Order: sequence, then structure tokens, then C-alpha cells
Amino acid sequence: MTNQLQDLIKEYNGLTKRRKQFLEVISLMYWDLQTKAPRGATDERSETIGTMYTEVFKELISDKSEALLNRLLEKENFDQLTKVLQLSVTNDKKELDRYKKIPPERYGAYKALTAKAQTIWAEAKEKNDFLLFQPYLEEIVAFQQEFIELRGYNGHKYNTLLDDYEPGMTTETLDAIFAYIKEKTISLLRKIETSAHEPKVDILHKSYDAKRQEELSLRMLRDMGYDFDRGRLDISAHPFTIKINTGDVRITTRYEEQLLSSALFSSIHEGGHGLYEQNIDPALRETSLSEAASTGVHESQSRYWENILGRSQAFWKYFGPIVREIFPENLQGASNEALYYAVNKIQPSFIRVEADEITYNLHIILRYELEKDLINGVITVADLPRLWNEKMETYLGIKPDQDSQGVLQDVHWSDGMFGYFPTYSLGNIYAAQFTKKLREGIPDYEELIEKGNFKPILDWLKENIHRHGAMMQPEALLEKVTGEGINPQYFIEYIEEKYADIYQLAFDQAEDFT
Ligand code: ZN
Repeated sequence: MTNQLQDLIKEYNGLTKRRKQFLEVISLMYWDLQTKAPRGATDERSETIGTMYTEVFKELISDKSEALLNRLLEKENFDQLTKVLQLSVTNDKKELDRYKKIPPERYGAYKALTAKAQTIWAEAKEKNDFLLFQPYLEEIVAFQQEFIELRGYNGHKYNTLLDDYEPGMTTETLDAIFAYIKEKTISLLRKIETSAHEPKVDILHKSYDAKRQEELSLRMLRDMGYDFDRGRLDISAHPFTIKINTGDVRITTRYEEQLLSSALFSSIHEGGHGLYEQNIDPALRETSLSEAASTGVHESQSRYWENILGRSQAFWKYFGPIVREIFPENLQGASNEALYYAVNKIQPSFIRVEADEITYNLHIILRYELEKDLINGVITVADLPRLWNEKMETYLGIKPDQDSQGVLQDVHWSDGMFGYFPTYSLGNIYAAQFTKKLREGIPDYEELIEKGNFKPILDWLKENIHRHGAMMQPEALLEKVTGEGINPQYFIEYIEEKYADIYQLAFDQAEDFT
């Protein structure tokens, strides 16, 4: 290797490290704002975070950074780089191209718009007034369309947005997957609705002291193998996971005193995200690959722990006695089975974040269909409230009578996050697909869960998924771990089998997804 190439690598590593250091400061300021800071901190802190981001962004797309990446991408240099560096450089170039094609003043105007739009959205939601938000959303959609034209696209325009969160995913693939999930899910729901066996949930709705709920969350997180020497649990209005640096991955939850399951499952969910971040190979630390393979794969980890493990019968055999010990006055007569049934009640509802594991995907498919048609100009923003309500009725059998319970419920669109929602469902699909392999790899899977011994499970997840970080795209990772590409059949089989038992339903075998 020439001295010149060594210098280039040194310069590249220096830039990457600097960017990570800036992001560490931003993350810590954001975490503080969401957890500990007084209300009064909000305005100036948000502005500071915005300025810091702009600096990181400017450096990322600077001529200096572009020239450096181009040098490293020259064949004679590139061939001499380690595999990790090759991938890191390629990733950074993709990221640079993504923004470089957008004139900075247009990007600035867009960021200013979304900052304002988030405040307007909150007001519109509170006042239940879509018209207030409509002009802002129209402008955001117009910006998205403009940016897609500038950035270019393959096939469907929406693909460019999908690729931002789920590299390699396309509308063509998703259309087929979601059509299958939608049909199977709706038919399962109809069966559940006519079942005479309905789980009772009243044991979850007693008064549950927040301090003792925290004890329960901490107990479970420790059992999962979440490392408190490299993380912590705090309270925030909306639970989230944030990497401050590789040795500091924090999670949050929120306690509802009238609902036992809320904080527990939020903590398990965020714990699943946290475990992923905590177990990425330290060797990737100084590169841009020390992150998850994609948003969908990240979500597969949280949903595995929350739903597939945390809402399983085996888990409640282990956890039932622990919950009864912490809340003896509320749960003395509640069997493990009663708790298992209670946390698995299926109930179509208006709000996505409160949805159960069957109806959840329908909330996502609805948003996906609307986003895709909006970006393609098939529908307009003004059509959204009506179409939203119609789809709710068709898919879930319920119709919101207020937009605050419908089209205005999520913050995502006000922040320009189009293409993000599908990753939640991809998380469910990937999780079921990984679990199939995980169970094959761990023959005494159920017995281990019944004993609360999750270590072999975590070790499997670390080895097969976590440690790789962003070394592989989601499709390649799936192929490597499961031997096939994305296949939603495993998810359908999982919910059909589980809920046939809970609701005493009769079933034919799930048909193959082709
Ligand atoms: Zn999540």
C-alpha cells in the first residue's frame, strides 16, 4: 500500500470519527430534551440540534469529502481496502449522492417547512382540524416529489423513499407481500370476531404503582441480557432507543398506572432495539457500518422480544410468578394462562401504536397505500381524510369520526417521513422468519423460555444478526440467516397457529406465498 493511500485512509477515518463525535453530542442533547430537560428548554434546544445537524450535513456533502470518497473509490485504491472499509466508503458515497443532488437552499427550505409543520400538526391534531395541516402537508408532498425527480428512481417513484429506510426494498415486492398479508389477516380477523372465546383483560386494568412497574421492567431487561453498564432506562412521553455512543445505548419507557402491560411491553420492545445496538461488532465502531442493517431489521429485533417471545405462553409460565410476586394484591388469583390470554386480546382500534399484533399490519398497509398514491399523484392531500376512513372501515371494520383518531394521529408525515411506515410491518415479517430458524437452531427453545434462560436466544441473535451491523443489506442478511428472501408466510403461520389456539378457531394450512 502506498503512503498516499495510507494518508487517504487516515483522512477518511478522521472524518468518520469526527462525524460520529458530532452525532454523539446531538444524540445526548436529544435524549436530555426527551427525558430530563424542563419544558422551557425545548425551543432553544431544538434550534441548537438543528444547527448541529446542518454542520454535520455540510461536512458530509462538502467538496472535500466528495473528493476524498472519489479517490478511495478509484479501482486501484478501492481494491486494496479492507472489506469493511470498502463497504463503509460505498455507503458514505451513496449517502452523499442522496443529498448532493438536492440544491442546499431547497433542502434548507424543506427542513424549515417540516420543523414548522410538526408544530402545526400537533395543533391540528389537538383541535381535530385537518384543514389547518393540509396546506403544509401539500407542500411537503410537493417537496418529496421534487426531490425524487432530482435524486432519480428505478421503476416506481416511491422506491427512492423506501430505499432510504429499507435498502433494496421496492414497491413491486411490497405490493405482493402486503396484498397477501392483508387478505390473510382480514380473513383471520373475521374468524376471531365470531369466536365465543374472548380473552378477559380486566386483570391488566387495575391500579399498578409506577415504581413497582419500573422494578418489573428492570427485572425483564436484565433477564434479556440488556447491559446496564452500557445503557440505562428512563421515562419519556414516547418510548425510544438511542445510541449515544457504542458503549452507551439508552432506552426509555412510560408508565400507565391503569394498564400493567403498557410499560412492560414498551420496555421489552425498546430493550430488543437496545440489544441490537449493544451487540454490533466493536470492530465496526469507527466506520459507518456500526448501525443496524435497516429500519425493518431493527424493528424485527424489538418485535421478536416484545411479541413472539414476550407474548408467548412459554414466557408467561416464567414471568407469571414474577408479576404476581411484585403485584400480589392485584394478581393473587390470576393464573399464568389468564395473563397470557389477557396480553393477547385482539381488538380493532383506531390508534396504530395501541394495535395488537394482528391488526397492526393493517394500520401500516393503509398508510402505505395512501403514501404510494400521494407520491404518484394518484390522489391529493385533500382526499386523505375520506380515503383513510374508508380504508379503516374496509380493513378493520371500524370508522373514526374524528381526524385526530384517524389521518392526524401520527407525527411522521409532518416530518416528511414517507417510506418509513412499511418498515414496521417488515419488522414483523422478518421477526417471524428469523424465529423459524432460531427455533431450529435451539431445540429446547420453549423450555429455555419457561425457565427465563434467554441467553442462548440472545447468543443466536448476536451471532446471526446483531454483530454484522450494516455489513449486509436486509435481503442479503435474510438470505444468509434463513436461506431465502423475504417470505411473509412465516408471519401468517405464526399468527394463525397462535390465535387459533387462543380463540379456538378451525384452520386449513396457510397457502404458500409465491
Ligand atoms: Zn421499534
